[in-house]
Amino acid sequence: MTSTDRDRAVVLGGSIAGMLAARVLSETYAEVVVVDRDELGPELAPRRGTPQSRHLHGLLSRGHTVLEDLFPGLTAELSADGARVGDMLADTRLCFGGHRFRQGVSGLPAICVSRPALETTVRRRVLALPSVRVLGRHDVAGVIAEGRRIVGARVVGRADGSAPVELPGDLVVDATGRGSRLPVWLEALGFPAPRQDRLAVGVGYASRRYRLRPGALGNDLVVISAPCPARPRGGGLSLIEDGNCLVTLMGVLGDHPPTDPDGFLRFAADLALPDLSRILATADPLDDPVAYRYPASRWCRYDRLDRFPAGLAVLGDAVCTLNPVYGQGMTVAALEAEALRRHPADGRPLLGHLRETGRIAGAAWALARGADLSFPEIPGRRTAPDRLFGRYVGMLQAGAARDVHLGRAFLRVTSLVDPPTALLRPAVVARALAAASPVARSTARASRPGASWSAGSGTPRG
Ligand SMILES: Cc1cc2nc3c(=O)[nH]c(=O)nc-3n(C[C@H](O)[C@H](O)[C@H](O)COP(=O)(O)OP(=O)(O)OC[C@H]3O[C@@H](n4cnc5c(N)ncnc54)[C@H](O)[C@@H]3O)c2cc1C
Repeated sequence: MTSTDRDRAVVLGGSIAGMLAARVLSETYAEVVVVDRDELGPELAPRRGTPQSRHLHGLLSRGHTVLEDLFPGLTAELSADGARVGDMLADTRLCFGGHRFRQGVSGLPAICVSRPALETTVRRRVLALPSVRVLGRHDVAGVIAEGRRIVGARVVGRADGSAPVELPGDLVVDATGRGSRLPVWLEALGFPAPRQDRLAVGVGYASRRYRLRPGALGNDLVVISAPCPARPRGGGLSLIEDGNCLVTLMGVLGDHPPTDPDGFLRFAADLALPDLSRILATADPLDDPVAYRYPASRWCRYDRLDRFPAGLAVLGDAVCTLNPVYGQGMTVAALEAEALRRHPADGRPLLGHLRETGRIAGAAWALARGADLSFPEIPGRRTAPDRLFGRYVGMLQAGAARDVHLGRAFLRVTSLVDPPTALLRPAVVARALAAASPVARSTARASRPGASWSAGSGTPRG
């Protein structure tokens, strides 16, 4: 390898994290090569390397802001291709903690698009950059070191009889997702491997596409019935770009949705929010349900290492896989890619980026962990403040059934726009307490006799 190679970044993995890293690195590198084991073509279909793309993928508001910043006009482009764009609280039927949120304007966008369509649109924008190219149908077999520095990656074409090839690079970025082999590669090179934090959640998904009866959703775009300790089965339905809808059911701790059509419908009928099941009763299925198993969340603590090779970065699910129920993964990947801008490679190990990645992943991890540990069967240490905050959030969710401000405050936190402490602001606490008072509850019931959970009528609106 020669010094002429120093202007090239090599990104391992061409999914969301890899493409966003390539976008950011194209600002400072003369050439960015993205390697993936799949052919990364223009097709909208789910691909083998990202089996999760058959399932509902919500883009949180914070991630949407980063994507729109990296790709100005992305939302308009998605919308022109059929995606529906609305408001996360006004146009969405939400049920958290078993409480149906009152609908009203949140100012947070709901982007209704399938994961393949979102990924393909992002990829199209990245590959339009003159400095970025893709090396598809190549497996990454390892990284190459010279002393304490990574100077490239070893890749093998997927065609029969292909020999390993060395791909030199000034910076190598691991974005190979939850199957990342980086901890093993680091140890083999004499560097410490990161400690791994795990949380066993036993989540199972099953998803299916449907054609809806006209008007079945009213003016709404999305239905979400989130799993909670009292009703551990959850599900979501979203319109997608082709005018049909994608339905994902989910269960925790091994109570997984079945993939036979009758079992799928029976599971849907057991959610806290009955709308989804009622809508499906008159909808036409377009394919068979497909399953996905997610046994545990895992966070590789690269942020805790003091020795790490120069010329190497890691981001996305390769660092931290988060319980998909909370829809945080793409947003965390986007924030970590954006952070690469603030930590340009200067010949020294990118410890600053590792630490920042730890802070970004850690904030999402803490939120997801807190919600996961509200399920008593999920193993993990619970502190008294955890339990107290969990009870307060339950009260706030109950209050959001009547008060749009509470729903908005809750969604701003779960969308990673505000920190969890925002829920403890005096104005929010006062509203939560007021909404929880028996007088407020009986007044709300008396003033809205028609506010029942019916599919056709939509939900109470503020
Ligand atoms: C069921 C499910 C539902 C989810 N729902 C949401 C959601 O609603 N919202 C949200 O934001 N996130 C969601 N996520 C998380 C989201 O999918 C990921 O966080 C996101 O895709 C970013 O991941 P990534 O790019 O780091 O890795 P991945 O998307 O896993 O991509 C890894 C890439 O690396 C390639 N690759 C891997 N190994 C090699 C190798 N050795 N050689 C060459 N190529 C390789 C793969 O082909 C793939 O393209 C969900 C995840 C799951 C499992």
